[in-house]
Amino acid sequence: MPKKIEEKKKSKPTKKSQELKEKTPSVKEEEGRMEELRKLLIRKREQIVKEATEEIKKFKSGEKRQLVETVLDDGDLSVVDLAEDISLRHLSAHRETLVKIDNALRKLEEGTYGICEDCGDEISKERLKIMPFAILCRDCQEKRELLEKIEREEE
Ligand SMILES: [Zn+2]
Repeated sequence: MPKKIEEKKKSKPTKKSQELKEKTPSVKEEEGRMEELRKLLIRKREQIVKEATEEIKKFKSGEKRQLVETVLDDGDLSVVDLAEDISLRHLSAHRETLVKIDNALRKLEEGTYGICEDCGDEISKERLKIMPFAILCRDCQEKRELLEKIEREEE
């Protein structure tokens, strides 16, 4: 792992979010907004689980049967690594989204929602509207994507 990332991780957003909470003029209003968001995330989560289940059903016949039954038996998409199976790539994308939603829900609980994981700044409300489970501000996201691109090219 490059040294840059290690350094970034040191800046924990917890303290900052605490400060933000205290400065918020209407706590009630903020709580209402967070509750709305929580509901939205849970709805989205249910929708994705449903879609994934539908897709699993499609694979229930044929050579994928064994694998699919394993997934259904476990009842937990997160325990199955489907990344290698091209025909199940869709499910993998669903899984990634589920992980992101769970992260966002956890952050809501902890009061760190909407705080960039890298720089600790607030993620803009506009950005969160478009991507409710963004964990990085626009700048850090772009930086990370660039870094990932470089890493891929080095492989
Ligand atoms: Zn940032």
